[in-house]
Amino acid sequence: MNEVKEILARLHAAATNPRSLLESYRIFGKKVILTAPVYTPEEIIHSMGLVPMGAWGADVQLNLSKSWFPAFICSIAQSIVELGISGAYEGASGIVIPTLCDSLKVLEENFKYAVPSIPVIPMTYPQNRKPDFGKDFTLAGYRRVIADLERITGTEFNEEKLWESVRVYNHHNAAMRRLVRVLSTRPQITVQERSDCFKSAWFLPKEDHTALIDRLCDQLVSQAPGTALTPVYVSGILTDSPGFNSLLDEAGLTVVGDDVAAQSRQYRTDAPEDVTPLRALVEKYAAMDHCSVLYDPAKKRCEYIAEQAKASGAKGVLLVLTKFCDPEEFDIPLIRRACEKAGLPSTVIEVDRQMVNYEQARTAMETFRDMLDA
Ligand code: SF4
Repeated sequence: MNEVKEILARLHAAATNPRSLLESYRIFGKKVILTAPVYTPEEIIHSMGLVPMGAWGADVQLNLSKSWFPAFICSIAQSIVELGISGAYEGASGIVIPTLCDSLKVLEENFKYAVPSIPVIPMTYPQNRKPDFGKDFTLAGYRRVIADLERITGTEFNEEKLWESVRVYNHHNAAMRRLVRVLSTRPQITVQERSDCFKSAWFLPKEDHTALIDRLCDQLVSQAPGTALTPVYVSGILTDSPGFNSLLDEAGLTVVGDDVAAQSRQYRTDAPEDVTPLRALVEKYAAMDHCSVLYDPAKKRCEYIAEQAKASGAKGVLLVLTKFCDPEEFDIPLIRRACEKAGLPSTVIEVDRQMVNYEQARTAMETFRDMLDA
């Protein structure tokens, strides 16, 4: 097996076996803290010697969670509760849930009662994250998370250690941004493999993941770049479903850039290293932009997506809409208008975590490809 294949196999194994990774952390005496979408202060968890593991739900049939949610709550929130009730998260010491949208607010309350064995740590962010009063609010939220983590896990927070974690995460961000650039000219990496690169980041220690991604990029840049037949830019909350990714692969589409919440949106902003570490996390959150769950009254996000798609060399923009996700739904018409203005065709594909039949999406995807290639 050549080195690229070996690294991709390791990333795939991590992306598809979070449960066994959770067990292995516990065998080595580590405590695991689950991190729900969309932005959790992972650096704090990491600095306290705890292992943050992403909890973005899974493609499962929703049964037990139905008694906790009305049908019109997004399947990401519902599947997190489904997995919690069915024991998939057993052994985790807690879950941090940021309340950045209505579904997450409901999730935070319901998880407490539906899964009483895993304590909930809420992270309440301010609507106005940029002014000083907003930053003070974020700081108070982080202090609350620290106090809860100390109480639940018996570990102590230390600001010096947070410095080290801020650097580890900034380094990882840089590696992931490089990965996006490298993959945009390597169509030999499938959409599924690209997804594994991002998904595995939620489950592996950041130091290990950075090392794997650095090695992968070094290997790929030593190979001749290729030309994507039908390059597309993808926007949405989550695109990790194998059924969905194989549709793109089978249609011959190459993802040359993304604005996916579980992928690139996580890595756009670094924490500054010239202020105290907790303040650095506050400044990082204040500096984040272009995301459907972050307050953006001028909707600059829409032009940003069109600009990024254009710069990536995409022929079109694929908007992957998670069913019942209000924050994303509101932006779709504006994003499509911005893409049209930029001369980029766009299409919307609706997905959810219970999808088993992708035939309708396949037809839409193939039609979109034919339109881009015409
Ligand atoms: S998919 Fe949308 S509605 Fe669901 S948790 Fe994420 S942002 Fe909220």
